[in-house]
Amino acid sequence: MSFIELKGITKHFQTKNGLVKAIDGVDVAIEKGDIFGIVGYSGAGKSTLVRLLNGLEVASSGEVLIDGEDVSKLTGAKLREFRKKVGMIFQHFNLLWSRTVLQNIELPLELAKVPKAQRKKRAEELLRLVGLEGRGDAYPNELSGGQKQRVGIARALANNPEILLSDESTSALDPQTTDEVLDLLLQINRKLGLTIVLITHEMHVIRKIANKVVVMEQGKIIESGNVLEVFQNP
Ligand code: ADP
Ligand code: ADP
Repeated sequence: MSFIELKGITKHFQTKNGLVKAIDGVDVAIEKGDIFGIVGYSGAGKSTLVRLLNGLEVASSGEVLIDGEDVSKLTGAKLREFRKKVGMIFQHFNLLWSRTVLQNIELPLELAKVPKAQRKKRAEELLRLVGLEGRGDAYPNELSGGQKQRVGIARALANNPEILLSDESTSALDPQTTDEVLDLLLQINRKLGLTIVLITHEMHVIRKIANKVVVMEQGKIIESGNVLEVFQNP
């Protein structure tokens, strides 16, 4: 059994204009330690797929299994415990602008009711990990885009997740900063054995760090495999 399994997934949304099939019969298997890319044009269903993985959406049919557990069946304390297993980073960072860098990183720990002294220690450790030592008291708007995303990554790692979901996390960054952030993700993948699932529309991102990839179009997977195989096609 794979670490993450999506089996026969469909996801419909009821809208004013009728039923939208966001995901239409998708099977995906992701192994522990994979850097797994999901590519496709806007509207292909990528974000919906990722929201199924963090339990923010429930599939219309099919199963989402993480570590053998059906995510859609989790409730209460088990769901809260599961959420800690999954960290998420975003295109526009989603930092709180009125809080310092350290306070942003501590937020998930506060929600998990980690005592203050322990939170601070953990947040400082994370700052070092992402290369922002000494910037803990800065506010997000004093940082460059790349530094903001490093804060986003540190916050996502606060609860020691097993999976990191990245939704276009480098799309707002220039090419050099993109490469720096990708290097950091690669380093974290190797150091912590973290499984990374990343959505992107940039092939360069996939080529640089992913080992496996699926290409989505209109809710379906039209291509999948190892990155080298998939991108070998002329
Ligand atoms: P992508 O991330 O690849 O751009 P999405 O997963 O966001 O694609 O969207 C896939 C399709 O599902 C699109 O047609 C989108 O409009 C639709 N969709 C996504 N979320 C919702 C929603 N909450 N309500 C209605 N339609 C949605
Ligand atoms: P964008 O690049 O889309 O403008 P930003 O990175 O500027 O996004 O902002 C990310 C999110 O934070 C947005 O939802 C935005 O509304 C919110 N935001 C931006 N600036 C502030 C601020 N000074 N105070 C509170 N929220 C903010």
